[in-house]
Amino acid sequence: MAVFKPENVEDFYEIGEVLGSGHFGQVRQVRERASGTIWAGKFLKIRKNACSRLGLERSSVEREVEILQAVQHPNIVTLKDVFESRSEVVLILELVNGGELFDFIAEKESLLESEAIEFLKQILEGLGFMHSKNIAHFDLKPENIMLSDKVSPNPNIKLIDFGLAHLFLPGEEYRSTSGTPQYIAPEVINNEPLGPATDMWSIGVITYILLSGLSPFQGDNDEETLRNILAMTYDFDAQHFSMTSSMAKDFIQKLLVKNPSERMTAEETLLHPWIKPLTRKQLANRNRSSINMKNFKKFNARRKWKMSYNMVWMCNRLVHLKLLCKGKSEPDPLERQCESDVEDTESKPASLLRRRLSSSS
Ligand code: ATP
Repeated sequence: MAVFKPENVEDFYEIGEVLGSGHFGQVRQVRERASGTIWAGKFLKIRKNACSRLGLERSSVEREVEILQAVQHPNIVTLKDVFESRSEVVLILELVNGGELFDFIAEKESLLESEAIEFLKQILEGLGFMHSKNIAHFDLKPENIMLSDKVSPNPNIKLIDFGLAHLFLPGEEYRSTSGTPQYIAPEVINNEPLGPATDMWSIGVITYILLSGLSPFQGDNDEETLRNILAMTYDFDAQHFSMTSSMAKDFIQKLLVKNPSERMTAEETLLHPWIKPLTRKQLANRNRSSINMKNFKKFNARRKWKMSYNMVWMCNRLVHLKLLCKGKSEPDPLERQCESDVEDTESKPASLLRRRLSSSS
């Protein structure tokens, strides 16, 4: 069981600039006062009482911490320390300074499949390690695949955000409807039992996007995206996949399989000839094929725009709701008890509808 230190985090760390934000708080650069070392502090708001809707339940933070402690691997972010106050838990994490992999790639003029594979291999190694410990990530997407630093020409992959990850107990059946529509597997939508294979579907989607700049199931709205996933309506259209090797397509096809038990495992992907060529011809094919950079750059620019739009939308809604609540003269006793909890009941962009509701049976 992880120790949540009751001391004030600011006695030990100087809090610096914001590195990123999530649904339940911010990640900020922090400087350890004793050593001067820079870390990342993930500040998570905790629910104040049972009627609160804002913030995370302490138990889900405990789960994230327990999982981070169990997955110590070069391609997974490291947890150093945990502090707790009345309303907040702060995770002190290794600083992952290289930004997102997709942004790093989008800055390049061109990228061979063999170069993209070097990154993919590290993602699969990190994931394979987690899966060997009976842990699944359940939120694999470009935002959670980062690079160790900005200075080295070949930075290391670091997987982040274990907020939806799950440690499977022997014989346990686990269901969850959380995730991001573009990347979720059919079994998530169908509320069927999940497992490490659920992550492998997301790897199939991420690889498809990386090679073509197209998202295989993306519809005009989330409902259509989910329908496309269930109908398995994807193909490798000639225009976008003209530079892609047939081995790469075979790799994706073995991941975007509806039945989770028939998908390649992380261990099997590392032995697929696209990742580990057995012949000279296979090796040469990877060096002749490249990613569709023009389209990839477009995909990434759209993705970043959507992320900023969602963030601005979420902030505006919060400010608006807080003002509405302040405008009321006589809060009823329940509202008083719930203090600053405001709940948005209007419809939100679906990317904000990521629920942390899950069930385990
Ligand atoms: P979400 O609501 O998307 O699940 P979250 O609240 O769980 O988010 P994270 O995804 O872990 O939070 O972090 C939010 C952002 O902060 C990331 O997208 C990333 O930009 C940045 N970040 C997270 N961890 C680190 C780290 N160790 N080093 C540097 N930046 C980080």
